[in-house]
Parts: sequence; structure tokens; C-alpha cells
Amino acid sequence: ASANVPQTMKCVCIEQTGGPEVLQLKEMPVPTPKEGEVLIKNEFVGVNFIDIYFRTGLYPTPSFPSILGRECAGTIAALGPTTSTTTSLRVGDRVAALTGGGAYAEYAVAPVRNTAPVPPGLSTDNAAAALLQGLTALAMTRESHRVEKGDYVLVHAAAGGVGLWLLRVLRALGARIVATAGGEAKCRLVRETAGEALVAVVDYKKEGGYAEVEKVVKENTPGGEGVICVLDGVGKDTFDLSLGCLRRKGTMVSFGNASGAVPPLTITRLSPKCLKLVRPQLYPYIATQDEFEGYVVQLFDMMLKNKINTNMHEIYPLAEAARAQVDLGGRKTTGKLLLKV
Ligand code: NDP
Repeated sequence: ASANVPQTMKCVCIEQTGGPEVLQLKEMPVPTPKEGEVLIKNEFVGVNFIDIYFRTGLYPTPSFPSILGRECAGTIAALGPTTSTTTSLRVGDRVAALTGGGAYAEYAVAPVRNTAPVPPGLSTDNAAAALLQGLTALAMTRESHRVEKGDYVLVHAAAGGVGLWLLRVLRALGARIVATAGGEAKCRLVRETAGEALVAVVDYKKEGGYAEVEKVVKENTPGGEGVICVLDGVGKDTFDLSLGCLRRKGTMVSFGNASGAVPPLTITRLSPKCLKLVRPQLYPYIATQDEFEGYVVQLFDMMLKNKINTNMHEIYPLAEAARAQVDLGGRKTTGKLLLKV
């Protein structure tokens, strides 16, 4: 079944890795959904840091041209050949989905197991803005380290897309948060979002900022021992700082490389404090439909119940994907960046 799907579509793709200039607006064939897949007519597309890793080549792209983007929301335009026998999703349904690339486009294919109906009461842009970063925050705090009420947790880049979601989830879990953010405006947003769960926020971009983080963590944690968990999406620049802020038996969750990849590490660095180190990725946590749905239900329920409006940095036209990536990669943004199709 399909609803007036054209042959070609506008999309933003790369033919080689490099700077923002390699992003090109092109006309390409509309993809055909296979078994177990749906074709989505996109309304909003999420911009995520991982898109920058693929564009620069930090993460490998198997073949070119390649359409960037892994998150979208809109309506189902077509189902794969036998897809309707294994799902209740139908043409015309409003959905948000995670894709294996291909999202910076008018149409994108997504696997049914990573496609979620958007509940009434949740806007399509809000659903697109929440999916990847919200699920990441949930999986990191339920599985990478299972955060318990009263746990002291350090969150870096807390005013970013994932960062703000971590604050919301940690606050709901009753954690005690120490946060870092670059600049006073970002620190203000962290205070508003973390509320009573916030123990302290440090502007780590200031001179002496990293030393200040370590001092504040020691001053504010029981016995000056440090936090039980660090959630670190900054990577190279903060890795050593993060290990230093952990208490005995703590867990380092290194989930990203915004400042560059963490260099190889000598495993014995973990032994003085019996630290655990996790390098998680969202996708293996939501590989089955049950796992995906479990987290999506939690995420959308939380948004509806707490009336969470994703902090939208800016909604860019699809054609301005390069500007969006420059802003995100340049530490200029807070919250979520979307493309409007
Ligand atoms: P953000 O909105 O958090 O943007 C990145 C932020 O990182 C910046 O705003 C900046 O905040 C901080 N930062 C610190 N140093 C640098 C630097 N040198 N260059 C650029 N930014 C820097 O992006 P996302 O929410 O999309 O992603 C956050 C992190 O989470 C990324 O590392 C991403 O790869 C990771 N991620 C991992 C997932 C997984 O499955 N493992 C899933 C989703 C995201 P400030 O100015 O406050 O320092």
C-alpha cells in the first residue's frame, strides 16, 4: 500500500567526507521499503552529533553518495511488501523513527522495530526532537549505569541535546546532579532544567574550569569521594577529568566524542578505584521491538505527563543542514536542532 509517492525527492547527501561544504542538496530516487520496513514522508528530521561524525569520516560510510541523518518524524507513505502482516502500522499514521542513515530527505525508510506511533497530544516536531536523545538518556541511566535515588552523578555538556534529556531523566529518578556547561547562558538553562536535583553547575569553558569541576565534585559529594557515575559525551577533552571525579567503584559512561575520540587506554588505569568503564551506543539497547517500545513508552509518557517541551535551538530548512551542523559542532547550541522538510 502506498499514498502518491513520487519517484524522486530532495535530500542532503555527501559524496565524500570532509567539512560542512561536502553536504549537498540533491534530487535522488525515493527509497523503496523492504520487508519489515516503512517509508516515511518526513516533516521534521533530527540533527545529531553522530551526523557530524559520518560527515567528517570519524565513523566510516560504506558507500557514496550517502544521505545523512538517523532520526525523523512524519507520516507513513508506504509499507514494505509483507510488512502489514507483522505490524499494526498503516499508511497515514503519524510516526517518529530511527533510521540507519537516510533521514535528511523528503522520504526515509525505517525498520518497523524502530518506528513509533506519535500519541495524540504530542506534536510531530516534539516527537522528532525527543526520540534519539531521549532514548539515549533513558538507556544510559537505566542500563549503562542503573541510577538509583540519591546517586551523585556528573553530566558534561548538560545544556546540549542529550545533556538536557539526561537532566530531565536524572531529576525524575531522584539523582543528585553535578553538571558542566560552556558559558553562563548554558549554565542558566541547566539550573532551570535540573531544578532541585542540581547540586552544582560549573562553567568548564572558563580558564581553570576543569580544576574547578574536580573541586566542586569533591566539595559536594559524601566524604569528598566523588560521584558514582559520570555521563560523558564530550570525549577526548574530559576523559581524564571524568576518571578523576569518580568515587571508588564508580562507573564511567563514555558515550560520545564531541571534542574528539578518546585515545586508547591502559586498562590498569581503572584499578586504583575499581572503576567500571562502559562505551555504550543507543542502537544495541533498542535492537528488538520490545526494547524499543519499552523505552519509547517511558519517554512519551514522561513528555505528556510532565508537559515537556523539548528545548528547540532552531528549526532549519532542510537545505540549510550545513549551517545546522556548523552551529552544533561549534558549541553554539543548546537543546535540539531540527530540519523542516
Ligand atoms: P550536543 O547538543 O550535546 O552538542 C555537543 C556539545 O558538546 C556542545 O554544545 C558543547 O557543549 C560540548 N562540547 C564540548 N567540547 C566540544 C568540542 N570541542 N566541540 C563541540 N562540542 C563540544 O550534541 P548531541 O546531544 O547531539 O550529542 C551529545 C553527545 O552525545 C555527542 O558526543 C554524541 O555523539 C553523543 N551521543 C551518543 C549516543 C550514543 O548512542 N552513544 C546517542 C546520542 C548522542 P558545551 O559548550 O556546554 O561544552
